[in-house]
This record gives sequence, C-alpha cells and structure tokens, in this order.
Amino acid sequence: MRAVREQDALPLGSGSPEGELTASVWPEAPWLPRRPHYLFLILAHVIALATVLTRPSVAGAVSVLAMHVVFGCFGITLGYHRLLTHRSLAVPAWLERLLAVAGALALQGDPIEWVTVHRQHHRDSDREGDPHNASRGFWFSHMGWIDRSYFPFVTVERMQQYAPDLAREPFYRKLRRRYSLLVMAWIAACWAVAGTDGVLWGLFVRLVFTDHMTWFVNSAGHALGYQAYRTGDLSTNCFWTALVSFGEGWHNNHHAHPASARHGLAWWQLDFTYLVIRALESLGLAWSVRLPSREAIAVGEAPTGLLAALGLTWAPARESTEPATGTLDGRAA
Ligand SMILES: [Zn+2]
Ligand SMILES: [Zn+2]
Repeated sequence: MRAVREQDALPLGSGSPEGELTASVWPEAPWLPRRPHYLFLILAHVIALATVLTRPSVAGAVSVLAMHVVFGCFGITLGYHRLLTHRSLAVPAWLERLLAVAGALALQGDPIEWVTVHRQHHRDSDREGDPHNASRGFWFSHMGWIDRSYFPFVTVERMQQYAPDLAREPFYRKLRRRYSLLVMAWIAACWAVAGTDGVLWGLFVRLVFTDHMTWFVNSAGHALGYQAYRTGDLSTNCFWTALVSFGEGWHNNHHAHPASARHGLAWWQLDFTYLVIRALESLGLAWSVRLPSREAIAVGEAPTGLLAALGLTWAPARESTEPATGTLDGRAA
C-alpha cells in the first residue's frame, strides 16, 4: 500500500513524440467475444495438453522449466513485481529494461498494464476494487477474473493513475504499443529454433505452465496455508506456492510488508527471487534493497501445524486489523 501511495504522488506522463498511452482494443469493440482472453487461454490449454500427451519430450520439458525461470522468475517475479510494481530495489536502467522485456515475454501483458492491475490488488485486497478479488472464490481469483470484467481495471485513466511512473516513460509506452510485435517475434524465434515443436513447447506449454504458477499466488496465496500477519485481507503464506513461484507464495508476508524485497521472512521460508536479488546486490547490480525492520517482522505468528505450514489447509478467515505495513529498516528506506 505504501508503494501505491508513493506512486500516486508522481506526476502523470503527458503526450510525447513517442505516442500516447493506448487502451486495450477489446472494451471498445462490443462485437468481439465477451471473453477474448478466455477463448485464447482455453485454446492454449487444449494445445498444451495435446502437446504433452502426444509429443512428450524431455528437451521440451527442460526448456519449459528454463523459460519458467527466465520469464517467470526474472521477468514477472523480480522484474514486474518486486522491481516495477513495488520498487523494492533499484537496478541499472539497462537491467530494468531487460527484466521488463523478460516479463513481457511471459505473455501476461505489458508492464504498464500488469503493474496497474497489481497496485489495484494491493489497494483493495479481496474487496470490490480488487481485479482478482479472492472473496469471490478460488476459481475467480485464479483464472475466472480474466474475462470482460478485467477491462475496467486497465483503462488509460487507471493506467495513468496507478502506474504514472511507467506510463510517462517512452520505453514502457513503446513496449505496450509494440507488445503484439514482440509476441510475434517470439513465435518466429521458437519456430526458427525448433520448428513446430518449438512453437508448441516454447509458446503454448510454457505459457500455460507459467500462467498457472503465477495465478496460484492470487488463488492459493489468498486461501491455503496460514496468516502470519493480520493484514485484514485473505492473503496467506503457502509453502508449495512459494516453491513454484520463486518465493511469491509467502504472500501474507508480502501483503504485510509490500515494499519489502524479501518475501520469505523466516529462515525456513525459501525465497529464490530474494537470493537472486542478493546475488545482484553482491555484483553491484542492485541497491536500495528494502527490507522490514526486525521489530516489524517479529509481529508475525508461526503456523499452527504442519499442514498449515505446508499450505495444505484452508486458512481460516481472521479478524481485520491494521496491516503491519512494514516499517523499513535503515538499510534502504
Ligand atoms: Zn495478494
Ligand atoms: Zn505485490
């Protein structure tokens, strides 16, 4: 929440020779299907499943995992989420752009749109203004929200309100306008490397795989496991989600301390993305890494049992109290 307020105070981007911010074409085209994203995703699921069942390939599976690390961890988790949305750390401009392009190649939308959605999620977590409001059920927060109801959250006005820092930068506006070209270039690259199998595994299988690993943060990370902090929303710490999403599953910690670069706050909470951040820091490629103070972390409660610790039980709803919006320590506030 801290991050949203800080970003709100930033001046809006204005028109420039690089072009205006563009809205999605879908809301302006009522003749198009009500669930265009859904239709594509269903098609992608069918193709991915058919590929895995009829053309099993060790090389394909290994490449999907490698792409999950590059686009899911470096692109989405580190780039889109901890760096661009929450500004939990700073990196050189060239590296920020590289991570943003990796995020774009995860095919979850361009940085302006993704950040706009996620900052709204933090502002109204599990309430009406939350794009993937988990109080509407597990399925809605997982995938159901990607229907036509998604578009009011990504209008030009919303993008200027929630991501002004990105919307005013020509690089990000250009990335948004050229997004479909980037996708086509990726498909061409897959084809050039491995023909039909390259497209099937490099586009469809890995898209479906990384999408679900990310969506589990919104669904399981708001339903299964336990709450260490009484954040007043449904966010949970979910062990297995943290494993498949490079540390993002320590999601209740994140809602309590949204500006923190580290989500796994206890010694046993593996946070692969934070290890990457520490490595970048040691190389001089990351600085201003924001962390909660020891006192703010100490407020957190331990899980009530092994099943809760492993994220295998539904987390009971807890009373709404003031979020422990992390007091940051002196290292990088
Ligand atoms: Zn959340
Ligand atoms: Zn977040």
